[in-house]
Amino acid sequence: MATATSPVIKPDHSSQRKHFIFTDEHEQLRESMQSWVLKELTPHRFEWEEEGWPDWVVKRAGDLGFIGLCFPEEYGGQGGDYFYSLVRAECMSYSGCGGLNMGMAVHTDMATPPIHLLGTEDLKQRYLVPSIKGEKISSLGITEPGAGSDVAGIRTTAIRDGDEYVINGSKTFITNGARADFIVLVTKTDPSKGHDGITLFVVDLKDQDGNPVPGFSVSRKLEKMGMHASDTAELAFEDVRVPAENLLGEEGKGFYHISWELQGERLVGAIGCVSGAERVFERTLEYAKEREAFGRPIGRFQAIRHKFAEMSTQIEAAKQFVYTTAWRFANGEYPVREISQAKLFASRLICDVADECIQIHGGYGYMKEYEVERAYRDARLNRIGAGTDEIMLEVIGRSYGL
Ligand SMILES: Cc1cc2nc3c(=O)[nH]c(=O)nc-3n(C[C@H](O)[C@H](O)[C@H](O)COP(=O)(O)OP(=O)(O)OC[C@H]3O[C@@H](n4cnc5c(N)ncnc54)[C@H](O)[C@@H]3O)c2cc1C
Repeated sequence: MATATSPVIKPDHSSQRKHFIFTDEHEQLRESMQSWVLKELTPHRFEWEEEGWPDWVVKRAGDLGFIGLCFPEEYGGQGGDYFYSLVRAECMSYSGCGGLNMGMAVHTDMATPPIHLLGTEDLKQRYLVPSIKGEKISSLGITEPGAGSDVAGIRTTAIRDGDEYVINGSKTFITNGARADFIVLVTKTDPSKGHDGITLFVVDLKDQDGNPVPGFSVSRKLEKMGMHASDTAELAFEDVRVPAENLLGEEGKGFYHISWELQGERLVGAIGCVSGAERVFERTLEYAKEREAFGRPIGRFQAIRHKFAEMSTQIEAAKQFVYTTAWRFANGEYPVREISQAKLFASRLICDVADECIQIHGGYGYMKEYEVERAYRDARLNRIGAGTDEIMLEVIGRSYGL
């Protein structure tokens, strides 16, 4: 910058200028939430990788006001705009614990927003309010053993019986599935129809004593390649009775409702990928400045320096793209093409960055203690969850009328 005393304009690489979507209030949240994550969560990342993250994190986040950031004050939230969600996901990336970040994001950005948007006042009081306080933990049930990408192919049924619906079927790969108090469940109320037979319900999974409700069981806890800190479960529903007032949104419109939910999920996932990539980049940069080979820090080799240049360019491009798409989404547009592009680009980005960072670490990159191998394993899920790369390409390609 040119100043009064010096007319010479020099590059300012250390500038921390915020993006135009963020106000001083967003930045204040960033500061306080990031320091909470670093102080109370990050130190546990190795322990939670072995044992899973504990439920108290949700209660603590609720007490600190981090769950209700974008929900109205009348439900215990802070009434902030959508960009607070992005800041929250960015702050969570400092935990170094992908499984925790995913479990929290399911609660804050996937299962609860549909209750806020579509729920009756009664549903909001019974599920949204305690979720914001961190007293209830939520999950989202779309995927089934026989249908993932093809949501219209699900087989779980909810058949009306008087004032109740009776649910039968199974769900798999459900994040928070083993711990959740309730689930936002995608069902078929009319199995003879495809998209138009789908209906959402809010379903209690536990009774007041914390026991599974009659007919519900966690049939399997699943072992995974990464995200070990999160619980991923297969769930079984056998004649589970749900009051009719737990229907979420409109009967038969669940496909469109869940498609809306997926847009927010993909955007928040995309920013999680970008900030996850930033964290691995930063750690690796430090390493490249310290580790020496042939008498100099490895970062001084052009081959390595260019890897950083490539990665940072991709990260910056992805970040700007996600912010701009989020700005459009928050301002009333429904930019499904760009959300899908951002999700695709950011998911591939974090996988590529984690891979390069392992390479830069050499043999140490393959060792657990340096945490880049964990980032690599955790990152891989992003090209599958919330819509695979191939499904994103389908959505983008079809948006051109092809
Ligand atoms: C750790 C983890 C956590 C998860 N958490 C949740 C959760 O909380 N809730 C939830 O509901 N789900 C969850 N999922 C499920 C996830 O969203 C699905 O795995 C994903 O949508 C893909 O579905 P699928 O696994 O059935 O794959 P499939 O749909 O069987 O796809 C298999 C392959 O075929 C490709 N394919 C399918 N259809 C097409 C097509 N039309 N064109 C081109 N290629 C195609 C896919 O891209 C993929 O490569 C989670 C998954 C994992 C692994």
